[in-house]
Amino acid sequence: MAIFRKGVHPRAHKERTSGVPIARGPEPAEVWLPLKQHIGAPAVPAVQAGERVLRGQLVARKAEGVSANVYSPVAGTVKEIVGHITASGKKQDHIHIVGDGTDESVSLPPLTDPAGEQVLARIEEAGIVGMGGAGFPTAVKLSVGGRADVLVVNGAECEPYLTCDERIMLEYADEVLEGVRLCMRACGAPRAVIGIEKNKPAAIALLAQRAGEGVEVKPLRTRYPQGAEKQLIYGCTGRTVPEGGLPVDAGVVVVNVHTAFAAYRAVREGTPCYERIMTVSGGAVQKPGNYWVKNGTPLRELAAFCGADESCARIVSGGPMMGEAVFSLKVCTGKTSSGLLFLDEGECVSREATVCIGCGRCVQACPMGLLPNFIEAAFFAKDYAEAKRCGAASCIGCGCCSYVCPAGRFLAQSVRLAQKTIRERKI
Ligand code: SF4
Ligand code: SF4
Repeated sequence: MAIFRKGVHPRAHKERTSGVPIARGPEPAEVWLPLKQHIGAPAVPAVQAGERVLRGQLVARKAEGVSANVYSPVAGTVKEIVGHITASGKKQDHIHIVGDGTDESVSLPPLTDPAGEQVLARIEEAGIVGMGGAGFPTAVKLSVGGRADVLVVNGAECEPYLTCDERIMLEYADEVLEGVRLCMRACGAPRAVIGIEKNKPAAIALLAQRAGEGVEVKPLRTRYPQGAEKQLIYGCTGRTVPEGGLPVDAGVVVVNVHTAFAAYRAVREGTPCYERIMTVSGGAVQKPGNYWVKNGTPLRELAAFCGADESCARIVSGGPMMGEAVFSLKVCTGKTSSGLLFLDEGECVSREATVCIGCGRCVQACPMGLLPNFIEAAFFAKDYAEAKRCGAASCIGCGCCSYVCPAGRFLAQSVRLAQKTIRERKI
């Protein structure tokens, strides 16, 4: 088995929710839908204040270039298009809809035997983006003009605490596999490999049993960040993506299992992307589980529904390794919200960063082969050319360096900031 070098073994913390079946989450009375729930340009509002909308109605149209449509998850009235806080702490435009409780809905016409171009068009129309957290519009990703011979499907779910992908594979195995076949048709790949970490044996066995011709299930060693794009491609195919290149340069397209499931819903059922499954977990939540959550749901409502509040030690959107600390429960969920964690004191490490002792553990852990300690030093010295020379541009933000540092240094943040500066200044 091809296994990437380095990485770490954080405690999984999946036992609270991996056996909990998916349930419906809260029914929010109001939603705030971000116009930008994806990589690329924000969508352009297609509705005005005062307009009535139905569940499944298009409310914002994709902008030119890389962007994605946005659909309403409730029936109600558009109250306003307003700046609202996001998980990063910045304000962005959201469409604020007040539900009327009727749940009147519209949907797209289901497609019975679509050609590849029709699948692509439907995935774009339905506003599907990478639901593993990346948020890249899926139709753009799949439009590779026949240059990929393998579709790699990410079922690794290597982030601690998160179990929504595992539950999707267990409860919607046939739908996921049909979604995989649709994505193969859309990108023209004749075969697919679904990579799943070995700590999910039931999902591996079920998908392997039902996969059928052209689809292989690959058990992967449990090691973080097994689900990162380059590491996953290597684990599933043994291929290496060239430095600075894209997966398609190695003949591969990657989608997440939740994305494949969303493609199935859009094509076969005519359901656009307006809700998703999220894991809510952590020691400070009373009803941990995996929930269907409508896009635009305020985190406060999700917290109340699951028996949690702001009094816990830390709230994290996403997983603990790559997620973001949440400073306000006014923030709303979106297409890429994979998890919400309410952590107690015992689950958080709070310590003062001390001086680097030159132990080299961050270098040993970095799965991209970078020099996080040197990048951090260069970043503080504002020597961005040196930061680039030490590899900052290739950082995938996995957090392994910060995780292993005995001095408690915020290496991943420094490397990401250096990367951002290098990109902005075109160094
Ligand atoms: S430098 Fe980037 S890629 Fe390397 S361990 Fe740190 S966060 Fe991960
Ligand atoms: S792990 Fe921390 S202490 Fe060790 S070399 Fe890296 S930055 Fe320095």
